[in-house]
Amino acid sequence: MCIAESVDKKQAPRSLVSGGAGFVGSHLVDKLLEQGHTVTAIDNLSTGRIENLKEAKKYGLVFHFVEGDISKCSELPLGPFDFIWHLASPASPPDYRRLSLETMAVNSEGTRNLLNLALQDKSTFLLASTSEVYGDPLVHPQPETYWGHVNPIGERACYDESKRFAEALTMEYSRRFGLDSRIIRIFNTYGPRMREKDGRVVSNFISQALQGIPLTIYGDGQQSRSFQYIDDLIEGICRTMYSSYCQPINLGNPKEFTVLELAQQVLALTGSQSQLTFAPLPQDDPRQRKPLIEVAKKVLQWEPIIPLQEGLRRTIADFRKYYQDSGAVLQS
Ligand code: NAD
Ligand code: UDP
Repeated sequence: MCIAESVDKKQAPRSLVSGGAGFVGSHLVDKLLEQGHTVTAIDNLSTGRIENLKEAKKYGLVFHFVEGDISKCSELPLGPFDFIWHLASPASPPDYRRLSLETMAVNSEGTRNLLNLALQDKSTFLLASTSEVYGDPLVHPQPETYWGHVNPIGERACYDESKRFAEALTMEYSRRFGLDSRIIRIFNTYGPRMREKDGRVVSNFISQALQGIPLTIYGDGQQSRSFQYIDDLIEGICRTMYSSYCQPINLGNPKEFTVLELAQQVLALTGSQSQLTFAPLPQDDPRQRKPLIEVAKKVLQWEPIIPLQEGLRRTIADFRKYYQDSGAVLQS
């Protein structure tokens, strides 16, 4: 059952963003402030950066940052909140490998704590899930109705399975308690504010190209991904929250590239002379990934509009500035 709570129009909507100092979370915080929300961001800074909230801090008292771990009830901020946007969780494979148990905790206990807060406050709750719930998919492209192909005991399971659990928990709170909830399945997203060395393919390739060192291709580079620019994702997240659609929605760019094609684009756009080097493919690395976004198109009237070339150009400019500000000598 879905209950569309209407927000009191007389006062600014109150939002809580978990993972608000992360890559996606900080862009969402900026957008909500721009839309007139009062925003509280909670983050334990395990993979996020406080500098990501530089713009948000300019809004003064309507923005509040809490350093805390949402897996621990005692560290949650006081509501009430009209909207809870649950984005906290390591997302890059090297991050969630390094923080495997913390990742399982934030997606299980952390999700449960925020669901309880949402019930108490009668908030609308949005879970940031992932295309990883489809695992190494046997169905291509992936519709929301596909149940996935996930190794429950592999190296990615701490992330994939805990996100699947978070989805199950969210649906159960909706069924049992009538919680008004949303679930988005985010496909590979990139853009300014990614950590330069977070280990994801876009950040690795841009950093390597700018520094003139070889781009590391895992496997033969023929595996595919669909890369979505951050601004498109933020628009999709907001439209999902403000809709009344309670089933999972894919948010991703359906244009599919191989990892080798991505490397070539990054080399061309940076003008880098870097070579390519090949390394083993990580365990259970999905061979292909591409969203079907018919649901988002129909329900949200949303689809991505920023092509990969343009998004990469903006991201490269951001990385170049970061390196120059930190005194690094760049090769391109
Ligand atoms: P990120 O690592 O930049 O951000 C995650 C944030 O959560 C960080 O700031 C981190 O410090 C914080 N965090 C982690 N554990 C926490 C805890 N216990 N308590 C409080 N804060 C905690 O990653 P991102 O790319 O911004 O991803 C944000 C969300 O979107 C994640 O839930 C991720 O699973 C989902 N997602 C992202 C992508 C993508 O391509 N970026 C793809 C699929 C899903
Ligand atoms: N990858 C790569 N070189 C890198 C980092 C990643 O070839 O330096 C590959 C990785 O094996 C995967 C794809 O790029 O096939 C996307 O990896 P990423 O970690 O960005 O996202 P995910 O695997 O979670 O989709």
